[in-house]
Amino acid sequence: MARRLEEKAALITGAASGIGRATALAFAREGARLVVADRDAAGGEETVRQARAAGATAHFVDTDVTNTADVLTLVARTVELFGRLDCAFNNAGIEGVLAPVAEYPEEMFARVFDVNVAGIYRCLRAEIPPMLRQGGGVIVNTASVAGLVGAGGLSAYVASKHAVVGLTKSAAIDYAKLGIRVNAVCPGVIDTPMLDRLASGVEGLREALLAFEPMGRIGRPAEVAEAVVWLCSDAASFVTGHTLAIDGGYVAQ
Ligand code: NAD
Repeated sequence: MARRLEEKAALITGAASGIGRATALAFAREGARLVVADRDAAGGEETVRQARAAGATAHFVDTDVTNTADVLTLVARTVELFGRLDCAFNNAGIEGVLAPVAEYPEEMFARVFDVNVAGIYRCLRAEIPPMLRQGGGVIVNTASVAGLVGAGGLSAYVASKHAVVGLTKSAAIDYAKLGIRVNAVCPGVIDTPMLDRLASGVEGLREALLAFEPMGRIGRPAEVAEAVVWLCSDAASFVTGHTLAIDGGYVAQ
């Protein structure tokens, strides 16, 4: 079968771990040339090592998405390396803390928005100009099922992911006639270090989440990666402004 992202120039934020790493490896198998971005250099270099082992061209760029200069450098470096930017997966995110809204620490609320929402805004601002110059491109943002429905104790996270859905829709409309597609993936409960951190703070949380899963299991990062590959591929040429839940039926309930 032909590889779906052959020779595409791609960048992925939050690619040192979890969903970002799994997507980097899926992009590598599909023929993309990759820039792996994260603030975790050791994890990012490990993703690069694994992507190269899968036969891909891959580079790490140390990037904190809360830093505008870092994000501009990330995009400039990608264009310098590959001459273009075809696919951007804006995936870096944090969960914040678990607390009822009236007890949620203000600094943490702001921090979650800075990474999850403004981080994606900074990425969009940097990625769209080179895509416009080359006549098009594809962007996928990581929202969450928490961008579609509420979740107790996670007000900042839920509000931030609803904002990612809105930002994605607006960006999609802004650039629909200019060859840039912008979509969001909404993962359900996925087995990553983020889930481990959340579950370690609350006894029985993993079991409670599992009990609420229609498929009776949680998802794998590679299952989200498949959706990102499809959204970035030409097979999704008429799909923009969409929020695609990869959640085993979680929000269908
Ligand atoms: P993870 O913690 O394994 O990976 C997140 C990555 O983002 C890490 O490598 C981290 O270093 C990086 N990161 C965090 N802040 C950053 C910053 N300021 N700049 C650059 N990189 C930064 O978690 P994951 O589950 O793979 O999460 C990836 C995305 O998927 C997040 O946006 C998360 O909100 C979303 N998501 C996860 C789940 C889930 O159940 N795991 C569900 C829905 C959505």
